[in-house]
Amino acid sequence: KNKGRNRTHCYSETDTDSKQQHDNMQWAHRLQEAVLNDNIVLHFQPIWDLRTDEVAYYEALVRLNFNGELIYPNDFIPALEHTEDINLLDHQVVHQAIKLVSQHPELHKIAINLSAQAFSDEGLLPLIQKELKAHNVDGAKIIFELTESASLTNVSATRRMIQQLQQLGCQFSIDDFGTGFSTFAYLRELPAESVKIDGSFVKDMATSSVDRSLVSAIINVANTLGKVCIAEFVEDKITFDELRKSGAEFAQGYYISRPLRVDQIKDFKFTP
Ligand code: C2E
Ligand code: MG
Ligand code: MG
Ligand code: MG
Repeated sequence: KNKGRNRTHCYSETDTDSKQQHDNMQWAHRLQEAVLNDNIVLHFQPIWDLRTDEVAYYEALVRLNFNGELIYPNDFIPALEHTEDINLLDHQVVHQAIKLVSQHPELHKIAINLSAQAFSDEGLLPLIQKELKAHNVDGAKIIFELTESASLTNVSATRRMIQQLQQLGCQFSIDDFGTGFSTFAYLRELPAESVKIDGSFVKDMATSSVDRSLVSAIINVANTLGKVCIAEFVEDKITFDELRKSGAEFAQGYYISRPLRVDQIKDFKFTP
Protein backbone atom coordinates (compact mmCIF):
# COMPACT_ATOMS: atom_id res chain seq x y z
CA LYS A 1 0.00 0.00 0.00
CA ASN A 2 2.81 2.42 0.78
CA LYS A 3 4.17 1.97 -2.71
CA GLY A 4 0.96 3.31 -4.27
CA ARG A 5 -2.29 2.04 -5.70
CA ASN A 6 -2.81 -0.65 -8.27
CA ARG A 7 0.35 -2.55 -7.50
CA THR A 8 0.90 -6.14 -6.68
CA HIS A 9 3.82 -7.62 -4.82
CA CYS A 10 4.51 -11.28 -4.87
CA TYR A 11 5.78 -12.43 -1.48
CA SER A 12 8.13 -15.33 -1.79
CA GLU A 13 9.92 -17.57 0.62
CA THR A 14 13.04 -15.45 0.18
CA ASP A 15 11.40 -12.60 2.12
CA THR A 16 11.25 -14.71 5.25
CA ASP A 17 14.60 -16.28 4.34
CA SER A 18 16.31 -12.93 4.39
CA LYS A 19 14.75 -12.06 7.74
CA GLN A 20 15.93 -15.43 9.03
CA GLN A 21 19.37 -14.75 7.63
CA HIS A 22 19.43 -11.38 9.34
CA ASP A 23 18.53 -13.03 12.67
CA ASN A 24 21.20 -15.66 12.19
CA MET A 25 23.85 -13.03 11.50
CA GLN A 26 22.72 -11.06 14.53
CA TRP A 27 23.30 -14.11 16.75
CA ALA A 28 26.67 -14.70 15.12
CA HIS A 29 27.56 -11.10 15.92
CA ARG A 30 26.37 -11.44 19.53
CA LEU A 31 28.44 -14.59 19.90
CA GLN A 32 31.56 -12.85 18.60
CA GLU A 33 30.95 -10.06 21.06
CA ALA A 34 30.40 -12.53 23.91
CA VAL A 35 33.67 -14.26 23.07
CA LEU A 36 35.56 -10.96 23.03
CA ASN A 37 34.05 -9.84 26.34
CA ASP A 38 34.42 -13.19 28.06
CA ASN A 39 30.64 -13.53 28.33
CA ILE A 40 30.33 -17.23 27.51
CA VAL A 41 29.26 -19.00 30.67
CA LEU A 42 29.27 -22.73 31.36
CA HIS A 43 26.94 -24.31 33.89
CA PHE A 44 27.41 -27.90 35.00
CA GLN A 45 24.67 -30.48 35.63
CA PRO A 46 25.55 -33.60 37.67
CA ILE A 47 25.18 -37.02 36.06
CA TRP A 48 24.36 -39.54 38.78
CA ASP A 49 25.77 -43.09 38.79
CA LEU A 50 22.81 -45.33 39.71
CA ARG A 51 25.11 -48.26 40.53
CA THR A 52 27.36 -46.50 43.04
CA ASP A 53 25.10 -43.61 44.10
CA GLU A 54 27.59 -40.85 43.45
CA VAL A 55 28.22 -38.15 40.84
CA ALA A 56 29.85 -39.74 37.81
CA TYR A 57 30.52 -36.51 35.92
CA TYR A 58 29.05 -33.11 35.04
CA GLU A 59 27.60 -31.98 31.69
CA ALA A 60 28.79 -28.54 30.58
CA LEU A 61 25.85 -26.45 29.31
CA VAL A 62 26.59 -23.14 27.61
CA ARG A 63 24.85 -19.81 28.25
CA LEU A 64 25.52 -16.35 26.81
CA ASN A 65 25.69 -13.48 29.24
CA PHE A 66 23.97 -10.74 27.28
CA ASN A 67 23.95 -7.45 29.20
CA GLY A 68 23.71 -9.33 32.48
CA GLU A 69 20.90 -11.60 31.29
CA LEU A 70 21.64 -15.29 30.67
CA ILE A 71 20.51 -16.61 27.29
CA TYR A 72 19.95 -20.35 26.89
CA PRO A 73 21.21 -22.48 23.98
CA ASN A 74 17.78 -23.20 22.46
CA ASP A 75 17.52 -19.46 21.74
CA PHE A 76 20.81 -19.09 19.86
CA ILE A 77 22.22 -22.46 18.73
CA PRO A 78 19.62 -23.09 15.97
CA ALA A 79 20.47 -19.66 14.48
CA LEU A 80 24.22 -20.16 14.83
CA GLU A 81 24.02 -23.55 13.15
CA HIS A 82 23.27 -21.66 9.91
CA THR A 83 26.48 -19.64 10.19
CA GLU A 84 30.15 -20.54 10.31
CA ASP A 85 30.31 -19.13 13.79
CA ILE A 86 28.89 -22.35 15.20
CA ASN A 87 32.49 -23.60 15.01
CA LEU A 88 33.56 -20.59 17.06
CA LEU A 89 31.07 -21.66 19.75
CA ASP A 90 32.38 -25.24 19.80
CA HIS A 91 35.96 -23.97 20.06
CA GLN A 92 35.14 -21.53 22.82
CA VAL A 93 33.26 -24.15 24.85
CA VAL A 94 36.09 -26.70 24.46
CA HIS A 95 38.66 -24.09 25.51
CA GLN A 96 36.72 -22.92 28.52
CA ALA A 97 35.53 -26.35 29.70
CA ILE A 98 39.02 -27.88 29.65
CA LYS A 99 40.44 -24.84 31.42
CA LEU A 100 37.78 -25.13 34.16
CA VAL A 101 38.57 -28.84 34.63
CA SER A 102 42.22 -27.95 35.18
CA GLN A 103 41.30 -25.25 37.72
CA HIS A 104 38.59 -27.08 39.71
CA PRO A 105 39.39 -30.56 41.06
CA GLU A 106 35.68 -31.01 41.94
CA LEU A 107 35.04 -31.10 38.17
CA HIS A 108 36.76 -34.49 38.06
CA LYS A 109 35.08 -35.49 34.79
CA ILE A 110 32.87 -33.58 32.34
CA ALA A 111 30.78 -33.97 29.20
CA ILE A 112 31.00 -31.37 26.42
CA ASN A 113 28.26 -30.97 23.79
CA LEU A 114 29.38 -30.62 20.19
CA SER A 115 27.34 -28.98 17.44
CA ALA A 116 26.05 -30.87 14.40
CA GLN A 117 28.78 -29.18 12.33
CA ALA A 118 31.60 -30.48 14.54
CA PHE A 119 32.51 -33.47 12.44
CA SER A 120 33.19 -31.32 9.39
CA ASP A 121 35.31 -28.88 11.43
CA GLU A 122 38.92 -29.72 10.70
CA GLY A 123 40.19 -27.36 13.37
CA LEU A 124 38.33 -29.02 16.23
CA LEU A 125 40.44 -32.10 16.90
CA PRO A 126 43.77 -30.21 16.87
CA LEU A 127 42.19 -27.68 19.25
CA ILE A 128 41.05 -30.38 21.69
CA GLN A 129 44.52 -31.90 21.60
CA LYS A 130 46.15 -28.50 22.14
CA GLU A 131 43.86 -27.55 25.05
CA LEU A 132 44.34 -30.90 26.83
CA LYS A 133 48.09 -30.48 26.58
CA ALA A 134 48.18 -26.77 27.48
CA HIS A 135 46.13 -27.35 30.65
CA ASN A 136 47.68 -30.70 31.45
CA VAL A 137 44.28 -32.44 31.47
CA ASP A 138 43.93 -36.19 30.94
CA GLY A 139 41.70 -36.95 27.92
CA ALA A 140 39.94 -39.58 30.07
CA LYS A 141 38.28 -36.73 31.97
CA ILE A 142 36.29 -35.66 28.92
CA ILE A 143 33.22 -37.17 27.27
CA PHE A 144 31.94 -35.62 24.04
CA GLU A 145 28.20 -35.61 23.27
CA LEU A 146 26.79 -35.38 19.76
CA THR A 147 23.08 -35.65 19.01
CA GLU A 148 21.80 -38.75 17.31
CA SER A 149 20.42 -36.75 14.35
CA ALA A 150 23.82 -35.13 13.76
CA SER A 151 25.61 -38.49 14.07
CA LEU A 152 23.31 -39.95 11.45
CA THR A 153 23.85 -37.33 8.75
CA ASN A 154 27.30 -38.78 8.15
CA VAL A 155 27.90 -42.08 9.91
CA SER A 156 31.38 -42.72 8.54
CA ALA A 157 32.59 -39.22 9.43
CA THR A 158 31.07 -39.53 12.91
CA ARG A 159 32.72 -42.91 13.30
CA ARG A 160 36.09 -41.42 12.34
CA MET A 161 35.64 -38.54 14.75
CA ILE A 162 34.76 -40.90 17.61
CA GLN A 163 37.87 -42.96 16.93
CA GLN A 164 40.11 -39.89 16.82
CA LEU A 165 38.67 -38.63 20.12
CA GLN A 166 39.18 -42.07 21.65
CA GLN A 167 42.84 -41.89 20.61
CA LEU A 168 43.08 -38.83 22.86
CA GLY A 169 41.63 -40.93 25.70
CA CYS A 170 38.20 -39.24 25.52
CA GLN A 171 34.82 -40.98 25.45
CA PHE A 172 31.82 -40.39 23.23
CA SER A 173 28.09 -40.34 23.89
CA ILE A 174 25.15 -40.25 21.47
CA ASP A 175 22.84 -37.52 22.76
CA ASP A 176 19.04 -37.24 22.49
CA PHE A 177 18.86 -40.89 21.45
CA GLY A 178 15.52 -42.14 20.14
CA THR A 179 14.52 -39.03 18.21
CA GLY A 180 16.77 -39.43 15.16
CA PHE A 181 15.19 -42.36 13.31
CA SER A 182 18.31 -44.43 13.69
CA THR A 183 18.38 -48.12 13.09
CA PHE A 184 20.16 -50.65 15.27
CA ALA A 185 22.67 -51.07 12.43
CA TYR A 186 23.79 -47.43 12.75
CA LEU A 187 24.09 -47.70 16.50
CA ARG A 188 26.18 -50.81 16.04
CA GLU A 189 28.48 -48.93 13.62
CA LEU A 190 29.24 -46.14 16.08
CA PRO A 191 31.91 -47.03 18.65
CA ALA A 192 30.40 -44.68 21.27
CA GLU A 193 30.67 -45.77 24.91
CA SER A 194 27.25 -44.46 25.89
CA VAL A 195 23.77 -43.57 24.74
CA LYS A 196 21.80 -40.72 26.25
CA ILE A 197 18.08 -41.51 26.14
CA ASP A 198 16.16 -38.43 25.01
CA GLY A 199 14.26 -36.65 27.77
CA SER A 200 10.96 -36.94 25.89
CA PHE A 201 10.91 -40.68 26.69
CA VAL A 202 11.96 -40.18 30.31
CA LYS A 203 10.01 -37.20 31.62
CA ASP A 204 6.63 -38.99 31.78
CA MET A 205 7.86 -42.42 32.85
CA ALA A 206 6.09 -42.08 36.20
CA THR A 207 2.68 -42.03 34.51
CA SER A 208 3.22 -43.70 31.12
CA SER A 209 3.74 -47.45 30.92
CA VAL A 210 4.45 -47.08 27.17
CA ASP A 211 7.35 -44.72 27.94
CA ARG A 212 8.62 -47.07 30.66
CA SER A 213 8.65 -49.92 28.12
CA LEU A 214 10.41 -47.80 25.48
CA VAL A 215 13.10 -46.72 27.92
CA SER A 216 13.59 -50.33 29.02
CA ALA A 217 13.89 -51.42 25.39
CA ILE A 218 16.49 -48.73 24.59
CA ILE A 219 18.53 -49.75 27.64
CA ASN A 220 18.43 -53.39 26.52
CA VAL A 221 19.52 -52.59 22.96
CA ALA A 222 22.31 -50.27 24.16
CA ASN A 223 23.56 -52.82 26.69
CA THR A 224 23.47 -55.58 24.06
CA LEU A 225 25.79 -53.41 21.95
CA GLY A 226 28.11 -52.91 24.93
CA LYS A 227 27.05 -49.34 25.64
CA VAL A 228 25.86 -47.80 28.91
CA CYS A 229 22.78 -45.56 29.18
CA ILE A 230 22.17 -42.13 30.64
CA ALA A 231 18.55 -41.02 31.11
CA GLU A 232 18.03 -37.23 30.93
CA PHE A 233 15.04 -35.23 32.30
CA VAL A 234 14.67 -37.27 35.47
CA GLU A 235 12.28 -34.99 37.33
CA ASP A 236 10.90 -37.13 40.19
CA LYS A 237 11.70 -39.98 42.56
CA ILE A 238 9.34 -42.46 40.85
CA THR A 239 11.22 -42.04 37.55
CA PHE A 240 14.58 -42.25 39.34
CA ASP A 241 13.64 -45.53 41.06
CA GLU A 242 12.09 -46.91 37.87
CA LEU A 243 15.32 -46.24 35.95
CA ARG A 244 17.37 -48.05 38.56
CA LYS A 245 15.01 -51.04 38.24
CA SER A 246 15.27 -50.95 34.43
CA GLY A 247 19.05 -51.16 34.65
CA ALA A 248 19.97 -47.65 33.47
CA GLU A 249 23.53 -46.85 34.53
CA PHE A 250 23.19 -43.05 34.86
CA ALA A 251 20.50 -40.45 35.54
CA GLN A 252 20.42 -36.68 34.98
CA GLY A 253 17.66 -34.20 35.69
CA TYR A 254 16.07 -31.63 37.97
CA TYR A 255 15.22 -34.32 40.58
CA ILE A 256 18.96 -34.73 41.14
CA SER A 257 20.06 -31.18 40.38
CA ARG A 258 19.57 -28.23 38.07
CA PRO A 259 22.65 -27.13 36.11
CA LEU A 260 24.98 -25.43 38.63
CA ARG A 261 27.37 -22.50 38.50
CA VAL A 262 30.97 -23.63 38.98
CA ASP A 263 31.06 -22.09 42.47
CA GLN A 264 27.99 -24.15 43.51
CA ILE A 265 29.50 -27.54 42.64
CA LYS A 266 31.47 -27.93 45.87
CA ASP A 267 28.29 -27.72 47.95
CA PHE A 268 26.19 -30.04 45.77
CA LYS A 269 24.60 -32.88 47.72
CA PHE A 270 21.97 -35.41 46.73
CA THR A 271 20.43 -38.29 48.64
CA PRO A 272 18.19 -40.51 46.49
P1 C2E B 1 21.06 -31.53 25.90
O1 C2E B 1 22.51 -31.78 25.64
O2 C2E B 1 20.10 -32.64 25.68
O3 C2E B 1 21.03 -30.98 27.40
C1 C2E B 1 19.97 -31.15 28.29
C2 C2E B 1 19.10 -29.92 28.39
O4 C2E B 1 17.97 -30.26 29.21
C3 C2E B 1 19.73 -28.73 29.08
O5 C2E B 1 19.11 -27.56 28.57
C4 C2E B 1 19.33 -28.94 30.53
O6 C2E B 1 19.34 -27.77 31.30
C5 C2E B 1 17.91 -29.46 30.37
N1 C2E B 1 17.49 -30.29 31.49
C6 C2E B 1 18.26 -30.98 32.35
N2 C2E B 1 17.53 -31.67 33.23
C7 C2E B 1 16.23 -31.45 32.93
C8 C2E B 1 14.99 -31.90 33.48
O7 C2E B 1 14.93 -32.67 34.44
N3 C2E B 1 13.85 -31.45 32.88
C9 C2E B 1 13.87 -30.62 31.82
N4 C2E B 1 12.71 -30.22 31.30
N5 C2E B 1 15.02 -30.16 31.26
C10 C2E B 1 16.19 -30.58 31.81
P2 C2E B 1 19.98 -26.36 28.01
O8 C2E B 1 21.12 -26.08 28.92
O9 C2E B 1 19.02 -25.26 27.71
O10 C2E B 1 20.58 -26.95 26.67
C11 C2E B 1 19.75 -27.29 25.57
C12 C2E B 1 20.54 -27.95 24.47
O11 C2E B 1 21.51 -27.07 23.92
C13 C2E B 1 21.37 -29.14 24.96
O12 C2E B 1 20.56 -30.26 25.04
C14 C2E B 1 22.43 -29.24 23.89
O13 C2E B 1 21.98 -29.97 22.76
C15 C2E B 1 22.64 -27.80 23.50
N6 C2E B 1 23.86 -27.29 24.17
C16 C2E B 1 24.03 -26.97 25.48
N7 C2E B 1 25.30 -26.57 25.71
C17 C2E B 1 25.95 -26.66 24.52
C18 C2E B 1 27.31 -26.39 24.10
O14 C2E B 1 28.18 -26.04 24.88
N8 C2E B 1 27.61 -26.59 22.79
C19 C2E B 1 26.67 -27.04 21.88
N9 C2E B 1 27.06 -27.22 20.61
N10 C2E B 1 25.41 -27.31 22.24
C20 C2E B 1 25.04 -27.12 23.54
MG1 MG C 1 23.97 -33.08 25.97
MG1 MG D 1 20.73 -34.75 25.93
MG1 MG E 1 18.16 -33.46 25.15
